[in-house]
Amino acid sequence: MSRVSRREFVKTTALAPLAVAPFSLSAQTPKEERFDIVVAGAGHNSMITAAYLAKAGYRCLVLEGRPIVGGGVKTAQLTLKGFKDDVCSTSHAFLLDNPMMKNDELKLRDYGLEYIDPDPIFHVPFADGSYLTQWRDMDRTCVEFGKFSKKDGAAYRKMLAEFDAIKPILMGASFTPIGFGKPLNDQLAQQPRGKLWQRRLAMSAWEIIRDTFEDEHCRTFMLYMSHLAAEPPDAPMTGRLAYGTARQQHSGRPFPKGGSGKLTEALARFIEAHGGVLLTNKWVNRLIVENGKCVGVECSDGSSYRAEKAVVSTIHIKHLVDMAPRELWGQDFIDGVDTWQAEHAMFVTHCAASEPPKFAVEGGTLSPVEAGILVSPERALRFGYDDARGVVNLDNPAMQIICCSIADPTRAPAGMHTIKVIGWQPYELKEGPEHWDKIKNEVSDGYLKFLRRYAPNLTDDKILARFIESPLDLERMNPHFWHGSAHAGAQSASQVGPMRPMPGWAQHRMPIPGLFQTGATTHPGGSVTGGPGRNAATVMLKDFGTSIEEVVNKRA
Ligand SMILES: Cc1cc2nc3c(=O)[nH]c(=O)nc-3n(C[C@H](O)[C@H](O)[C@H](O)COP(=O)(O)OP(=O)(O)OC[C@H]3O[C@@H](n4cnc5c(N)ncnc54)[C@H](O)[C@@H]3O)c2cc1C
Repeated sequence: MSRVSRREFVKTTALAPLAVAPFSLSAQTPKEERFDIVVAGAGHNSMITAAYLAKAGYRCLVLEGRPIVGGGVKTAQLTLKGFKDDVCSTSHAFLLDNPMMKNDELKLRDYGLEYIDPDPIFHVPFADGSYLTQWRDMDRTCVEFGKFSKKDGAAYRKMLAEFDAIKPILMGASFTPIGFGKPLNDQLAQQPRGKLWQRRLAMSAWEIIRDTFEDEHCRTFMLYMSHLAAEPPDAPMTGRLAYGTARQQHSGRPFPKGGSGKLTEALARFIEAHGGVLLTNKWVNRLIVENGKCVGVECSDGSSYRAEKAVVSTIHIKHLVDMAPRELWGQDFIDGVDTWQAEHAMFVTHCAASEPPKFAVEGGTLSPVEAGILVSPERALRFGYDDARGVVNLDNPAMQIICCSIADPTRAPAGMHTIKVIGWQPYELKEGPEHWDKIKNEVSDGYLKFLRRYAPNLTDDKILARFIESPLDLERMNPHFWHGSAHAGAQSASQVGPMRPMPGWAQHRMPIPGLFQTGATTHPGGSVTGGPGRNAATVMLKDFGTSIEEVVNKRA
């Protein structure tokens, strides 16, 4: 294996086209071929919508701008030969609650999808040398909390029991299109202690965590897990995020064997097996509207594709709105687009390494698949302030460290490891977002230096190569990550539920008839949930005179 020296490494960190295309299709489709559905953008959500529509018998064409399908759910060689990196997401914890997986509706395992369930689930080391580890075994996890406070050990057990009782309702709301079931608040009102949950969901994650746990370590661990959605934990209506640890206690944080991209590869195979076609390197830049109806799309290479039934978009609403005359959208929609807010962006360093991170624990070291660093609750409470200031902050930065090769040796050459280090930084720097190109190597160095305080084994010689994604790089790679937003935009009180993407347009049907929207700008938002994808399919199938249940129960 060739080693990349630090000098060479600097040259290789510009966001290059992905070196390996595990699922790229660029075959031309004859112009005269007819399609019922044209899908603009191939993220996991739009591919899930396409998969249900294809199963229903509609002929689908999926157009992706990048050389590989999958958006935030893909795996490629970013560092060195033989290393398979998750370009964005790794954990599919939320997806497994989606009826698509829970009820095996698409039988994706037949298309090559297999999950690995790491134990421990998550590990947080602290600056004083102590640590808290979440294990699949609940009792063992309670002992971890109990190391710091017996009361907090009992509080965690109680929190989990309370969450388990309400989980089916919360999950049901995520996997139901807006307007299709009873509103969540009405459902909660009918539950024992439902009114308490109405209050909790309106509170901030920090308020719940502070009131439930007394010890600083336990509070820090809970705040860390609540911040993975990139919302400031003290913001109103982030209460649901306080239950992030409880949510994953039973389901863990599974990821696909072979890499996150195995999900979108399986979906691509499913769509093809059901008569669909996927084309890559196709940037959609215009909607074709005839007689007030969206009937197809035009791409930047001059090609155009017509849809006899509907167009489904996962193009960011900030870009979509420029792809058809303004007057067709209506003022409410345009107001919703204009007021859309970005989120605290991610900063990512992918490393090819000769060792996994080793964190000190009693009797030796621990190398978990996922670990997080957060020094204190006070540090978490400064996330919103950091973002607003528009300056890079490497003062005790929070970070996530993911090393899939520990549980999945197929990800790296024998004995080697893939390490993904994620931090959070503002997209909008005072000098402008382009400034990221000048400083990203230095920022990446800062993160690795800080990580070494907790995993001192990761010295320079163990890092064979790096690939850096600044917030600006993330947006360049995937315009759906608008302003570096890994979830397409903030999931704050003003942009969740019936407010996503904006009030009045949360049902996937767009103001231009024949056009539907899915993906992270729609309910239930970003992350690998598949919720927006299945929900959009539910709405469309209803509009087409059938139902998702009928399609799921259809043979073959
Ligand atoms: C570094 C990082 C780590 C993450 N880790 C996790 C994790 O572990 N777990 C988790 O649940 N979530 C994670 N996320 C978030 C998650 O990846 C995203 O929220 C999710 O993938 C969004 O999926 P989507 O289907 O909405 O669309 P996307 O994945 O954003 O896909 C949209 C697709 O549309 C294409 N497209 C956009 N515009 C056009 C156009 N005009 N023409 C043609 N194609 C177009 C894009 O190229 C892209 O392929 C992470 C994100 C990042 C950035």
